[in-house]
Amino acid sequence: MLNIVLFGPPGAGKGTQSERLIDEFGLVHLSTGDIFRSNIKGQTELGKLAKSYMDQGKLVPDSVTIDLLRAEVLKHNKPKGFIFDGFPRTNAQAEALDVFLDSIDTSITLMLSLDVEEEELKKRLIKRAEVSGRADDADPKIIDNRIAVYHKETSPVKSFYEQQRKLVSIEGMGSVDEITARLFTSIKSI
Ligand code: ADP
Repeated sequence: MLNIVLFGPPGAGKGTQSERLIDEFGLVHLSTGDIFRSNIKGQTELGKLAKSYMDQGKLVPDSVTIDLLRAEVLKHNKPKGFIFDGFPRTNAQAEALDVFLDSIDTSITLMLSLDVEEEELKKRLIKRAEVSGRADDADPKIIDNRIAVYHKETSPVKSFYEQQRKLVSIEGMGSVDEITARLFTSIKSI
């Protein structure tokens, strides 16, 4: 299997690039943010819980997120592989993912980490708010909180994969097509 962690701060372009990667490599896209948002729309208990954290720019608790991710992976029968988008976001999630993938005889192949300057991230999120209707994109204070949470809790996950020699940093500035081309090159050179 080809299992990719697509990593980067909020607004780095993970969702956009994931769409391109699933088309090219026939992978299943698993975005924890998308799954939470569809639960919010469907007014499920999980949605209500997730919303209370997301609206503040905080992370949904690890136990909830890890259980959800495992269940989503198991829904797919003999997939070619997965793109994990927005997961793992903490070291605890990364460790749990390794243990879980090992239990189903697979592992993470590569972490592709998109590097984008902070000013550019904020611009992209404010622009996305105009079309996404996402409450967490519309408020500069919530955006700042998401970026702070990223630096404190999420960016250490890079070292986790670096220690396993699976980290590849990708320049995330430039056009969508340019960034896609860089990602394709990295995956094809495995
Ligand atoms: P972005 O990458 O633009 O911040 P996402 O759609 O990935 O957007 O995530 C939106 C929100 O959903 C996060 O700010 C967080 O509250 C919640 N979330 C998504 N994935 C996770 C995760 N793996 N662990 C905890 N919370 C998560």
